[in-house]
Amino acid sequence: MIADYDHAVRTIRSARRVVALTGAGISVESGIPDFRSPGGLWSHFDPAEYATLSCFLHDPEKAWRLYRELGRTLLGREPNPAHFALARMSKAGHLAGIVTQNVDGLHQRAGNPLVLEMHGEHGRLQCLGCDLLEPFLPAHLEDGPLPRCRACGEPLKPNVVLFEESVREMLEVARLLDGCDLLLVVGTSAEVYPAAGLPLEVLSQGGSLLEFNLAPTRLTGGGLGRVGALVEGPAGVTLPILAGRLE
Ligand code: ZN
Repeated sequence: MIADYDHAVRTIRSARRVVALTGAGISVESGIPDFRSPGGLWSHFDPAEYATLSCFLHDPEKAWRLYRELGRTLLGREPNPAHFALARMSKAGHLAGIVTQNVDGLHQRAGNPLVLEMHGEHGRLQCLGCDLLEPFLPAHLEDGPLPRCRACGEPLKPNVVLFEESVREMLEVARLLDGCDLLLVVGTSAEVYPAAGLPLEVLSQGGSLLEFNLAPTRLTGGGLGRVGALVEGPAGVTLPILAGRLE
């Protein structure tokens, strides 16, 4: 069903514990195209070829062609009104935390106090040899020698989850979702696991879903449609209205 703002406000006010799950759609308004959209990152770099752990381990020079392109896509991007609206809702006590599939760090930049990044973070480089982390600098985006660990000399990779690597923070995600009776699903169709399991977990606890997307997904449009409601439109428009109504 399509939800109006009165319905959304009532649902949030009557929930005991509200958590948000966000995906690529929330960052599109910050100028970061969904990697899977036409013209997005995956149309230039086949993820099965470039975005795997095997590619990094066997041919880091090749993997870095993707990492540089990803870095240029994310460089200089700023949080948009949707990120700030979630931060307002957190600070007003309406939101317990955010689980995100994004690696752009924009929720934190907008001042959201609790953000769990299932797919890691692009802001730092990671050494798989000795676990050292160091900042990802604009200089790393320039073609040249591979960035290497200053402690052990191994090639560095962005501190993001590659295909064939485990997702992060699942224990913390489970803790955050414990007792959650309302999941806000923002800018994602939540079709890719493990994110796809989160709405199901909240539903299995007797909770409900409130979706903020441009169009219905399987969460509200079919399949799970009886249990979710959609606030239709760009999250950068809908979430600030909602945050304002909640104050
Ligand atoms: Zn190292």
